Amino acid sequence: MLRPQLSRGGVSLARMAAASTRASASAARVCNGFQKTERKMCIETSKRNFVNPLRQASTFSNVTSNSQVFVSAAEPDDKAAMLKIHWGDSKTDLYPFIWLRDNCQCPQCFESSSRSRKLLLQDLPRDVHPIAVEVPKDGRSVSLSWSDGHSSVFSSSWLHRRAFNSSSRNQRLGDIKLKKILWDAAKMKDLPQANFSDLLANDKALLRFLQEVEELGLCIVKEAPTKSGQLERLTKRIGHLKRTHYGLTFTVKVKANANNLAYTEKSLNLHVDQPHLEDKPGVQLLHCISQYEGHGGDNLLVDSFCVAEKLREVHPEKFKLLTDTLVDFYDIGVEDGIKFHAINQEPTINLDKSGEIKTVSFNNMVRDSHFGCQAEQTWAWYDAMMNYHDLLSDPQFAITYKMSAGDIIVFDNNRVLHGRKGFQMTGGERHLEGGYWDWDEVRSRRRVLMAESDLN
Ligand SMILES: [Zn+2]
Repeated sequence: MLRPQLSRGGVSLARMAAASTRASASAARVCNGFQKTERKMCIETSKRNFVNPLRQASTFSNVTSNSQVFVSAAEPDDKAAMLKIHWGDSKTDLYPFIWLRDNCQCPQCFESSSRSRKLLLQDLPRDVHPIAVEVPKDGRSVSLSWSDGHSSVFSSSWLHRRAFNSSSRNQRLGDIKLKKILWDAAKMKDLPQANFSDLLANDKALLRFLQEVEELGLCIVKEAPTKSGQLERLTKRIGHLKRTHYGLTFTVKVKANANNLAYTEKSLNLHVDQPHLEDKPGVQLLHCISQYEGHGGDNLLVDSFCVAEKLREVHPEKFKLLTDTLVDFYDIGVEDGIKFHAINQEPTINLDKSGEIKTVSFNNMVRDSHFGCQAEQTWAWYDAMMNYHDLLSDPQFAITYKMSAGDIIVFDNNRVLHGRKGFQMTGGERHLEGGYWDWDEVRSRRRVLMAESDLN
């Protein structure tokens, strides 16, 4: 049992009763004399540990009898005060008081059925701090009595999974998004494949498929029935199709007066679909119902992230120009009697805060003539964009795949550009059905399946 001690200066200190008297006395000495410099040393020590990787979450259960928990706050007005936890493996982590009180898991503060915080923000005192801290002998939980009169209990496993350190955070990031595996043509000799019937019937096959689409950005589903409606059947296993102004699904056939170049026999440059939408489709599906039999009609596919990394390496100034310059995309027309007028602005290569590539928006067909680039910089931007396109089309990076009837090609529309070789209407009808998923839906389903497979 821990007995908190409160010094005259307002220093809270809790010690393990299980620890030796000498160790306790030593800890008390340090904390009773907690002058600013000493507190700083204590915090600095904590910060050094902060970046050390912890063991995997599965080993936290040995947080225990030799664990120590003490309060590292020194003064009541120290808003950044934290609880320092010594784990059984001699690592330590810091937990801010305000975060602990905010995340109290009791029924008064947290609704377990909806997994939602009930505690209102106006009821969270900014200067909240514990007046007592206890750890039972098994070391598997921490109880805190708070300055606002409330009490909280946290399990050690819950705290360990939420530790404020890079290892715990990286593990969390891995749950949010799977790490992308970039590829060039040599690495993509064998296209990842799944079987349509397996995906409908087998959760393990579905999970593997979703993981491949997320990591590689591409998977070919084989042996789907060669009639329309199969995208809806597959989608029922995932979530919902994303509707756009081309409908819930769209048919790719040669049409007279086509409102989209996809509905012609022409070659299509490598592109992403619908960059004129701010919320553009995350994943594209193309189901081949019948294929043109002569030459042409092949799909081109390329990992634009892999190529962008090459551009970053060989022409960093061109890469930067493509990440800095906003490009206008638009789509104006009529579909099923409904007029549409979509406009969006995106850089060609969109980076996240850490400089990693987040999305690529490349579509020469719907790139607008309106362009916000400085006139003096425009030539350099064209030069960079054309250089990127040369690399994208290079056989070192781009692969060719002619779909067979019954194939559904599924790819990351933020990353894998697709194009098409031109064909002529003499070789039979080419009939594809297309649709989209949002990444939120795909990742949600993947997490559900991963959690279920962990249980089994
Ligand atoms: Zn509570």
